[in-house]
Amino acid sequence: MDHPECIFCNIQNPNLVITNTSDGIAMIYPEPVRPGHVVVGVKQHKQYLHDISEDEARKMFALANRMAKAIVEMTRAEKVYVVGVGDGDKHFHVHLIPKMPNDAKLGPYIFGEKGWAASVGSKFEAAEIAKYVKALKQKV
Ligand SMILES: [Zn+2]
Repeated sequence: MDHPECIFCNIQNPNLVITNTSDGIAMIYPEPVRPGHVVVGVKQHKQYLHDISEDEARKMFALANRMAKAIVEMTRAEKVYVVGVGDGDKHFHVHLIPKMPNDAKLGPYIFGEKGWAASVGSKFEAAEIAKYVKALKQKV
């Protein structure tokens, strides 16, 4: 076992596993924030989105898409939030967290005046934005 600490490589509770194939791994998160909280990870142990291949991304996000549809149908959620943080578990995955109709919106915690974006103070000038657009356009 190359990564014994990894919750995807070393699944502690097989009862949480929804699917584990070459497409990826989907399981109920061991510490769910609400019923229907699922994590979907790539098959191989790679840490970040920029570490995985386009094929791995395609398969994993297709699996996440299927899971999201199933979660919404089962929970009657308004939608699922797709959260990829990667600060803890070092195996690329996204959290699918059902947002119920009466739940507070997550966006303001990230993009709002008191959210994470405000705390890091990212304000970009037009010239800097243009630099990013130009550089990134060359990569797609
Ligand atoms: Zn792993």
